[in-house]
Amino acid sequence: MSEETIFSKIIRREIPADILYQDDLVTAFRDIQPQAPTHILIIPNHLIPTANDIKASDEKALGRMMSVAAKLAEEAGIAEDGYRLIMNCNKHGGQEVYHIHMHLVGGQPLGPILTRQS
Ligand code: 5GP
Repeated sequence: MSEETIFSKIIRREIPADILYQDDLVTAFRDIQPQAPTHILIIPNHLIPTANDIKASDEKALGRMMSVAAKLAEEAGIAEDGYRLIMNCNKHGGQEVYHIHMHLVGGQPLGPILTRQS
């Protein structure tokens, strides 16, 4: 069994979060430490710890995460200028919360996606 994270409590509304969207498959809420004017996290309602754990049976939830991202980008008014969708995986990816989440960030030019680490 994988261990629940704080995101499961947000899904169940046991702790506060600025939830923008929720349905039977996914939940979207504002990041507590936004890195851009728009910074939303979109997560599956069932626990998948990392991108490495995604199975074919998760495809419906993963697809919903993408369509909800497009809807929320439109609602945030950033669709036309553009934005970035990011999913970090494990240590090298900088993952901090082990319940997969897609970051939707935008509202300003975001610069190059990667800067090479020495
Ligand atoms: P990661 O580094 O795992 O890709 O991103 C985790 C994200 O979750 C971070 O951007 C962090 O600010 C956000 N986060 C962590 N704990 C909470 C929380 O309790 N509430 C909300 N809304 N965001 C959180």
